[in-house]
Amino acid sequence: MRHFVMVLGFMRWALALCLVLSGSAGAQGSSASATFPVIAIHAENVAHTDIGARIAYLQDDTRQLQVNQVMADGQPWMPVARTSPNFGFTNNAYWFRFALDNQTGKPVTRFIELPRPFLDDVRLFHFVDGRIITRYSLGDEQPFVQRVMQHQNFVMPLNLEPGRNQVVLRIASTGTVEAPLRLWQPAAFYEAASKENLLAGAVFGMLLVMIVYNLFVYLSTRDANYIYYISFVASYLMFWATLNGYAFALAWPEAIRWNSVAVPFSIAWACLSASLFADNFLKLYRFSPPAHRLMQGMALVSAGLMLGSFVLPYVWIIRATSAFILVVSCAALSIGYWRWWLGARFARFYCLSWTAVFVGVSVLTASKFGWLPANFWVDNASQIGILSLVVLLSFTLADRINTDRSLRINAQAVALAHAKKARASQQAMLQATADANRELENRVQARTNELHAAMDQLRLANDQLQRLSMTDSLTQVGNRAFFDQSLVTEHKRASRLKQPLALLLLDIDHFKAINDTYGHPAGDACLRTLADYMRQKVQRAGDLLARYGGEEFAVLLINSTLGDALDLADEFRADIAGLEVVFEGRTLRFTASIGVASAIPDMQFTPSQFVGDADKALYEAKHGGRNCVRAAAPRLAGVTSNALPA
Ligand code: GH3
Ligand code: MG
Ligand code: MG
Repeated sequence: MRHFVMVLGFMRWALALCLVLSGSAGAQGSSASATFPVIAIHAENVAHTDIGARIAYLQDDTRQLQVNQVMADGQPWMPVARTSPNFGFTNNAYWFRFALDNQTGKPVTRFIELPRPFLDDVRLFHFVDGRIITRYSLGDEQPFVQRVMQHQNFVMPLNLEPGRNQVVLRIASTGTVEAPLRLWQPAAFYEAASKENLLAGAVFGMLLVMIVYNLFVYLSTRDANYIYYISFVASYLMFWATLNGYAFALAWPEAIRWNSVAVPFSIAWACLSASLFADNFLKLYRFSPPAHRLMQGMALVSAGLMLGSFVLPYVWIIRATSAFILVVSCAALSIGYWRWWLGARFARFYCLSWTAVFVGVSVLTASKFGWLPANFWVDNASQIGILSLVVLLSFTLADRINTDRSLRINAQAVALAHAKKARASQQAMLQATADANRELENRVQARTNELHAAMDQLRLANDQLQRLSMTDSLTQVGNRAFFDQSLVTEHKRASRLKQPLALLLLDIDHFKAINDTYGHPAGDACLRTLADYMRQKVQRAGDLLARYGGEEFAVLLINSTLGDALDLADEFRADIAGLEVVFEGRTLRFTASIGVASAIPDMQFTPSQFVGDADKALYEAKHGGRNCVRAAAPRLAGVTSNALPA
């Protein structure tokens, strides 16, 4: 490259700072008074000539000197002993003087280029024969459009008369004052400018691609590292474009004030982005709280410096930001190596990236001090370093995403295995619960069945017991208890339905004699025969038969009038008299007496009264001669108590 291209922010200012601090600012002049350098212009002149080292300079402490004063004899002009004049940060104005000797014999045009777009005030005076024939007033405190040549650097065309042309320049600036002057043939200048623009376009495009690409990555990952990274690249892009004059030429040609704020602002912005990136990327909040607080503090200071860019004097803020970015870079790099040293593999690329910048800056610094030969690579070392940083950091982020992803995948696999195991245990537990429930249900069912069976048996036994307790064992008809219970029930029913109820009491005549004559078993046989007979007769639903006592039977006829009852009683009596009981070869006969009562019962007429009536009628039958039927006196109208004849 034809000049110190794109000198990178912190290195450049740091270098200037070094020069200021070391007190070596200035042109290290010899004490000899100057003979004004003469630069010959031939037809076959090379395309460009660096004339920084071939001029004389004059320091103007007062900044008050006028051009006629400096042109006067006796001024302490000094030769520039370095490759180009560099006075660091200074409050002085500086004058530069040289002669161009046009030996072509005709007027020629040459350009003087001053590739430091940040100089505040640049004035050029072109003398021929002691007369000013060209005068330029330039500087970044004037709108871009006022420039004589619309170029990002200060470019001043001179129409050189044949013979001796004197050129005097005055530079004053609140930043560093440098004058790496270069003399150009116009055609060569345009050719070089187009190459330079192409290169700048490539750098710009690359930075822009990094920003856009990582923005997309951020949008899909939402990883804050990308924002800090993008912020850093954007701050560098702004710094680079501003420092090289491209921003002033293309982006904000009218914004003079902002143009001077933009450099310290972008450096402070880079500090902010770098400290936040380092803090977040190296996970300092977990790794080391003090380091985390340090980087957070630096971010805070950076933010303060960004604001300060607008209010603090340029001369102070530019020094502060230049020094601070060195501090931030050193901290970010040292902590990165520390982390790597302690085993954080993802810090590798990070360290590599920052190291590239440091190597670049060191190379450039060394060349500035004249320890390395100037060539394209050396001049652009820091730029290459920064671009490497931009690319490598992008790799760094991708590398970390990979690392994080494989960690996440492993964790997911472990979690999945645990989940599977948990699900299996849960399934087993559910199965066991279901089995237990089924088992329990089965058991309950079995117990219930057993219980039901037992209850059925109990009910059967009860029924049997009931039946037995109500049955006469000899004759198998209802017993006295059965009769008493049934009588109460039927009495109530008849009373409710207002139906007549009839009762027959039947007693075997002279039964004692049968017992006495033929024996007790013969008597039993007679009782059984009588019961069998009566059971056949008493078949109507609701009617009932019972053995009331020894040889006494009772028949209850529901819904039966006295007349019906007497008819039936008489039929009984007649049939019984005809019964034959064959016992042990003998035929036994007997007769029976029957007392009949009938009534439509009510509450005043109790069951025992009813039985008493029938019993009375039976007594009458006995007294009436036996083998006959008698009716009780009617309790209700329409029933007579006249005993019927036997
Ligand atoms: P009456 O004509 O006055 O009824 O005279 P009776 O002999 O039939 O009357 P009594 O009351 O004097 O006698 C009843 C007899 O019936 C007395 C008793 O031994 C007999 N007896 C009572 N229960 C049974 C029984 O279950 N089997 C037998 N074989 N005899 C019985
Ligand atoms: Mg009797
Ligand atoms: Mg009797």
